Parts: sequence; structure tokens; C-alpha cells
Amino acid sequence: MQGLITKSTGSWYQVKSGDQTIDCRIKGKFRTKGITTTNPLAVGDLVDFEMEPEQDTGVVTTLHQRKNYIIRKSINLSKQAQIIAANLDMALLVVTLASPRTSLGFIDRFLVTAEAYDIPAIIVFNKLDLFSDEGLEILADCRAIYEDIGYSCYEVSALEGTHIESLQETLKDKVTLFSGHSGVGKSSLINRLLPDLDLRTHMVSEWSDKGMHTTTFAEMFDLPQGGRIIDTPGIRELGVIDIEKQELSHFFPEMRELMNQCRFNNCRHINEPGCAVLAAVEEGDIAISRYDSYLSIYNGNDTRA
Ligand code: GDP
Ligand code: ZN
Repeated sequence: MQGLITKSTGSWYQVKSGDQTIDCRIKGKFRTKGITTTNPLAVGDLVDFEMEPEQDTGVVTTLHQRKNYIIRKSINLSKQAQIIAANLDMALLVVTLASPRTSLGFIDRFLVTAEAYDIPAIIVFNKLDLFSDEGLEILADCRAIYEDIGYSCYEVSALEGTHIESLQETLKDKVTLFSGHSGVGKSSLINRLLPDLDLRTHMVSEWSDKGMHTTTFAEMFDLPQGGRIIDTPGIRELGVIDIEKQELSHFFPEMRELMNQCRFNNCRHINEPGCAVLAAVEEGDIAISRYDSYLSIYNGNDTRA
């Protein structure tokens, strides 16, 4: 039988197949090609599985080829990577400009990672209800920075349910990973998008009843209008990816399109003469905050919020 992994604890996997949801595990050595990870399967994986004789549990036998996957470095000593989720269509970042403030550096780092994974990213500004007129102007400026380089932005209030419809339209029929640092209202927004939240709490208690370890890194939910979202509790960022310094500007779309106009083809866009990127920063065609983020990531500084 074929199924989709909707939740993983590393030892048990919840596999959705048609209308059924079956708890599955893997037996023996289960190899995945190419990468060494602490967990062979992740939320979003398509798998084949067989039911265990006279049990209501199953065994995963085959992993289907992944379209993409995101990883993070494992916190344990083995330093192995851990797959967080697979087969994503989109990555969504929930941010707030106040209470708490998401730094632009944090947003840029997320976008760079999404570019490196080649996963389209969108930004959701939450807590719209808190904004004064002045705040709304700052929000508009911030939004313009990202829309000018091609990222779709949404302004919502998870609390009041404002502008949720246009976001729902975007999420329709796609698999979207939700990220955001704590306090931005990611859980509130997910609750807004999923009316049947009883389901969620129910599932957790059922797993604990069966004695299953319930620490999850990611969990997938069906959207009522079609499509799925993946929540990653406790993970603020879109995994990690090693980026070579000389490749970094490829992951800034507004720099990518200018780079071939730089005088030197190995231009770092830092102080080189004839640099088209520096010229664009000076002209105001590239936002200073974006260029600062470039330098900060280039120099290996932590730009997290
Ligand atoms: P998470 O840590 O990102 O999952 O954030 P939560 O969903 O737990 O929300 C953090 C706090 O922000 C809670 O007190 C929420 O009630 C509040 N909050 C979430 N969304 C909104 C919003 O749109 N407006 C306002 N004013 N508060 C919100
Ligand atoms: Zn340059």
C-alpha cells in the first residue's frame, strides 16, 4: 500500500493512506541514498508499507524519490543531519514588526535558505490589528522591500481573522512549510487555517496512550480547501544548508540579476571597482537592509532575531 507520512517521531510514523491513518515503523536497516541522517523518513515522504500480521500497525518498506527535503543539524553528538520535511511546494515565514519584532536579518536568512533549497518563499506579516497609522507605514515599506524582489507578502491578523482568505487561496493545493520564531503567532495562524483542531490534540493523546514517544519535529495537516501545511514546532528556521561564500549572491534575487554586469566575474560585491551590485545599493535599487544581510551572512555573522 502507498501512503504519505504526516507525522514522525523518529521511531513511529503516522502514515495516511486513503481515508486511513496507520501507525508504522521501519524494520532492520532502512537505507536512504546519498545522505547520512539520524532519521531515514520524514513528514511529507511518500512510502510503501505493509500491515503487520494481525496488528493495526504497519511496516514501511520503500521510500519514494523525494522532490526536495530540508534538514537541520542534529543536536546530539553524532552531528548527523536530521530531515525535517520532504516534498515541499512552498515555505511560509510568519513575522511581526512588533511584539516581538522579527529582524530583517532573520527574514533575509530565511529567504536565502529557501532560495538555496529552491523552494518558493512567502512572508506573512501577522498582528495587523496592533498597527497604528505609523506602524502601517513601516509595514508598507518593509513589504515593498520584499515585493520588489518578487516575494509575495500577506498582512493578516490571526487573532481577528483579517485577510485570511487571500492566504488560504495561495495555500490551496500546495504543501507549505510554516516557520517563524516564537511569539509571532504561528500557532494562532495555523489554528485559524484548520478549523478541526480537536483532531490535533486527540492524536497526541492517542499516541501517548499507545506508549509512543511523542516528541515531533514536524507534523502535516490537511487544509479544508485542499492542500497541506507542515508545522515545525520548536524549529525557527528553514533548516540549514551550507552555502559557499562565492555563491551567496545567487540566493539574493536582486543581486543575481545584476552580477554578470560586475567588472570582475569573481566579484564579491564588497569593495571591487565596477561592481554593479554596489552601484545598485548606492542608487537605492537594492535595499540597504538586504545588502547588510548579504554582508552579515558573507562574514559568517549570525543574523538571527
Ligand atoms: P507562536 O509562538 O508563533 O506559535 O505564537 P502564538 O500563536 O502562541 O502567539 C503568541 C502570542 O501572540 C499569543 O499571546 C497570541 O494570542 C498572540 N497573537 C497571535 N496572533 C495575533 C494577532 O494577530 N494579533 C494579536 N494582537 N496577537 C496575536
Ligand atoms: Zn559585484
